[in-house]
Amino acid sequence: MCKLKECSKCKESFNIDTDFYNAKAKKDGKDHYCKTCRNAIAASQRIEHITGSYFVYALPNENGVSDKGYCGQTKNLNHRIRNHKYVGKVVDGWKILKTFKTRVEALAYELEMHTKEGYAGNSIATRNFNKLNQI
Ligand SMILES: [Zn+2]
Repeated sequence: MCKLKECSKCKESFNIDTDFYNAKAKKDGKDHYCKTCRNAIAASQRIEHITGSYFVYALPNENGVSDKGYCGQTKNLNHRIRNHKYVGKVVDGWKILKTFKTRVEALAYELEMHTKEGYAGNSIATRNFNKLNQI
């Protein structure tokens, strides 16, 4: 019988010996996140660290709003995708269209995606863009 431990992120129980990384500082010597969750966190942190920038992303399968899908802009990509999922949007197949160093560039590109490419989400993008240009 293997000993099980609950991952504090996904709340599933896994084999404590094979499915958790060692963590000397912890009481039981094991990470509180399972390997799958820990790897996902590390991967998302790498994306943000490398680019350290603003993302223009698309939810191509979010067909409720436009044939093309939805397009948005954010600095915290993983957080934003999670939020979309939380409010019931289809996030499967989400992709980064382009990354930018500044928010102004990202918003300008996002607007172009709405007006020229036909992605949904234009009203928010226009409002953000106008607000930014007033400052
Ligand atoms: Zn987990």
